[in-house]
Amino acid sequence: MVRIGVVGYGTIGKRVVDAISKQDDMNIVGIVKTKPDYEALIALSKGIDVYTLPERIKLFEEKEVEVKGTIDDLIQKCDVIVDATPGGIGVRNKNQYYLKHDIKAIFQGGEKVNVADVSFVAQANYEEAVNKRFIRVVSCNTTGISRILATFIENGLEIEKARVFIVRRGADPKEYGKGPINDIVLNPATIPSHHALDVKTIIPNIDIVTMAVAVPETLMHLHMMYITFSESISKNEILDILYRTPRIIVVESEMGFNSISQVIEWARDIGRIRYDIPENIVFKESITVDGKELYFFMAIHQESIVIPENIDAIRASLNMLSKWESIRKTDYSLGLIQEGKMYGE
Ligand code: NAD
Repeated sequence: MVRIGVVGYGTIGKRVVDAISKQDDMNIVGIVKTKPDYEALIALSKGIDVYTLPERIKLFEEKEVEVKGTIDDLIQKCDVIVDATPGGIGVRNKNQYYLKHDIKAIFQGGEKVNVADVSFVAQANYEEAVNKRFIRVVSCNTTGISRILATFIENGLEIEKARVFIVRRGADPKEYGKGPINDIVLNPATIPSHHALDVKTIIPNIDIVTMAVAVPETLMHLHMMYITFSESISKNEILDILYRTPRIIVVESEMGFNSISQVIEWARDIGRIRYDIPENIVFKESITVDGKELYFFMAIHQESIVIPENIDAIRASLNMLSKWESIRKTDYSLGLIQEGKMYGE
């Protein structure tokens, strides 16, 4: 069993911990929390050991929240650390803690590209991450875009150019202090948004431009995809590829899917914990083909889309399984949609 520590127990960290606990080839040794708050108590109630930064031990003791030791103590007991701290803290942790130990680490998309040896999306470049010491799982939008573009490439379609127009959720549900509350914010005001550059860290030679705005909702991102291939394609060919690719779900307007809130309601109805949707959601009726051009709407659940990638990144870093063995194992353990199981039949 591979031993994993998770540093940062927020939106991404708590989901990674839950996902690790569902694997039979890795174990969660503990987490690093900076605050002795309700999230620390929930972790303890789940039997997860809590560690903290050296200067925070006293704070936990004062609040009588059980703490097992420092981040260094946790690292010494682990084979891999998943760092899920806010952007910029991961690189600090790397310099302060990870480099001095014999440890591998997985970082998240809020870190700069050079924090790691490789940026990672399982379906796109699993093999490049095999045996790497430091791996960066890219951000939610970049994961969704890279996953679907890699799917077309893997199925033999040559992409001439990809243009992606992104409507971003303004904040995650728990981010009570963030907006916008009555606006559409250019996010950023320049074109391309960082997503295009980030996709190139995964699929280097792709011609891609992304533009993004942020809107007042917390549910999912919506991507308007416009892809040009080098040769004409058919709608059936696209549908066939999407239907048989893991981590991509095609939903139908006819079945009641016309908005992201309906996708979220579906996830709640089928009993997904925290209504998580780690799959790309493609809206079937929007798939439009005109010669070499393809258009469609795609929704991405920002809080959970990168969770399977974190599990696969752990396996890649230790060369535990091949790409598709890992992807299938992860998907099965997390209960992701297998073909034909969409409505719980
Ligand atoms: P978050 O704020 O929800 O969680 C981060 C947690 O880390 C917080 O609980 C914070 O208190 C804690 N923390 C801060 N400094 C720490 C330290 N030194 N040691 C240990 N813990 C510390 O953030 P998040 O949304 O989970 O984002 C984490 C990373 O994942 C970022 O790089 C982000 O860009 C990336 N990401 C976020 C999303 C998303 O939509 N939330 C999606 C994909 C990727």
